[in-house]
Amino acid sequence: MTGTLYLVPTPIGNLGDISRRCAETLAAADFIAAEDTRVSLKLLNHLEIKKPLVSYHEHNKRESGPRILERLLAGESCALVTDAGCPAISDPGEDLVRLCAGAGVPVCAIPGPCAAITALSVSALATGRFAFEGFLPAQKKERRERLERLKTEERTMIFYEAPHRLRETLDALLAAFGPDRPVSLCRELTKLHEEVLRLTLGQAADYYKANEPRGEYVLVVGGAEPGLESVSLEQAADMVRALMAEGLRTKDAVKQVSEETGVAKNALYAAVV
Ligand code: SAM
Repeated sequence: MTGTLYLVPTPIGNLGDISRRCAETLAAADFIAAEDTRVSLKLLNHLEIKKPLVSYHEHNKRESGPRILERLLAGESCALVTDAGCPAISDPGEDLVRLCAGAGVPVCAIPGPCAAITALSVSALATGRFAFEGFLPAQKKERRERLERLKTEERTMIFYEAPHRLRETLDALLAAFGPDRPVSLCRELTKLHEEVLRLTLGQAADYYKANEPRGEYVLVVGGAEPGLESVSLEQAADMVRALMAEGLRTKDAVKQVSEETGVAKNALYAAVV
């Protein structure tokens, strides 16, 4: 009989958030696959669990995944953990789950800590419909294109971000969605310096010009007003050029098109100047 792959979420900051079922699953598994074995060893020591650990992360998953699958097919059970939070959510695991599901190995997901859901629930924004966007691309062009496609997204959006990229990301969100969109900046959730700032994108960009971003962040951004026209930056820039060709000053053409399309003024300036 084949074994089972257990997806075991681990605390995102507060060790007290490990559930009894997660601890029991870790204790009962034949082996544990961990994103970083040193990080997971600390948790296992805290729980007084001794288990063989194998490494499974972004850079070895092609070799490590089939080895784990082989052991599962031979009847062993495996608990998959990442450094923090829910495996397979912006973390290693997605490929292993697919590999196991394809080979007929049962996969059991145990509910538990997830930064995205924790942030959404405390954001004070609409939670009924949301889109998880994970990390935005680091490359400017790809990031701009991704945000361009999200401009008319009416659902609440959830982004992960590291502190060293927060300012850049806020500027990109501001350029795409405009200064008035609400954003909840959820920082260091479940930790000593937990903080939730509920601002607009304009206020958030200003705040972090004056304050150094520190710790881990989830950005929860309000969705677009229903019915916002889906006009791309390129299309809006063409509209500006057309108005300029008719004799309007750049400033006035940008203002008019921005009001008509919802495309941010500074993005339009950058595109036409
Ligand atoms: N799989 C994890 C989960 O479900 O929570 C997410 C892993 S992802 C590699 C790490 C990102 O999650 C961080 O860059 C940050 O955006 C977010 N994150 C993790 N822990 C957090 C915390 N305590 N407070 C705020 N954000 C956190």
